Amino acid sequence: MKIPERFYRDLLDGLTDGVYFVDRDRRITYWNHGAEVITGYRAAEVLGSRCWDNLLRHVDATGRELCHDGCPLTATLCDGADRAAAVALLHKEGHRVPVKVRASAIRDEAGAILGAVETFQDDSELAETAQRLEALRELAYLDALTGVGNRRYAEAELATRLAERRRHGIPFGLLFVDVDRFKDVNDRHGHEVGDAVLRLVASTLRHAARVNDFVGRWGGEELVVIAAHAPAGTLQPIGDRFRALVERSVTRTPTGSLSVTVSIGAALARADDTPATLIARADELMYRAKAAGRNRVVAEAESP
Ligand code: GH3
Ligand code: MG
Ligand code: MG
Repeated sequence: MKIPERFYRDLLDGLTDGVYFVDRDRRITYWNHGAEVITGYRAAEVLGSRCWDNLLRHVDATGRELCHDGCPLTATLCDGADRAAAVALLHKEGHRVPVKVRASAIRDEAGAILGAVETFQDDSELAETAQRLEALRELAYLDALTGVGNRRYAEAELATRLAERRRHGIPFGLLFVDVDRFKDVNDRHGHEVGDAVLRLVASTLRHAARVNDFVGRWGGEELVVIAAHAPAGTLQPIGDRFRALVERSVTRTPTGSLSVTVSIGAALARADDTPATLIARADELMYRAKAAGRNRVVAEAESP
């Protein structure tokens, strides 16, 4: 099968790294989206020009311009060896951006050098800070084991949705999901398999949820799903869909496959609910599902 050239272009454009090709005359023949973002130059502005044409003008740590003497790309074009360097490029708006660059030669089938490719990554503190912020954000909002929202996030989300419910009257439901006989899973297969089961249940719920739904881990083997835009009468089928998908999911363990079931209590948000009262009702309904034999959904009949 021949893979269309477009595929490679899309692939390269999907990278956050900058990628560009130069031919033997150091004329730029390709410039990806990452390069546009890091340098400020659109592909149309640079294609066809030579890379030293008043463009990126890499400098090293001492501020020395590398274009005519010391350019890693030129050296690679000459000897074909891969190179890596920490340099600073000139952004279109005039400021310097520290980047890590890598140069490698492109050869034809006979091994002759046709040109070179340079990839570069933003190496500025700014990029690092953004990454650190993202990591902190995840730490603050997501459950470390399962990757779904943590309890704090679930509580905040419930408070927000209840406020919206009061303002706009859009109905929503809360599903309280508890894994059945989970203690047995731990006892029989060990805590690690138990953890894998929790990840699997969370992942199943997350994939089954609609775009505006919310999935969070309430604690232990208990999860919550906020079912957005769910009027009375729809909670039972919604809960049943989640329940059936969990029942049919499989955790692979060293000793074989394992499936678990969940019991779900589904309550409809009321105008005077707080997160705590709504959770308490759903929890109570979940216990009725347990008492009725587990692997089932008990939904509130009607909103008052
Ligand atoms: P039921 O059907 O009535 O819900 O029975 P159950 O065994 O699921 O309920 P129980 O509350 O007795 O046990 C819950 C177990 O979940 C006990 C606890 O050790 C385990 N558990 C809680 N958090 C975690 C966790 O993060 N990882 C693992 N592996 N187990 C956990
Ligand atoms: Mg429980
Ligand atoms: Mg349980």
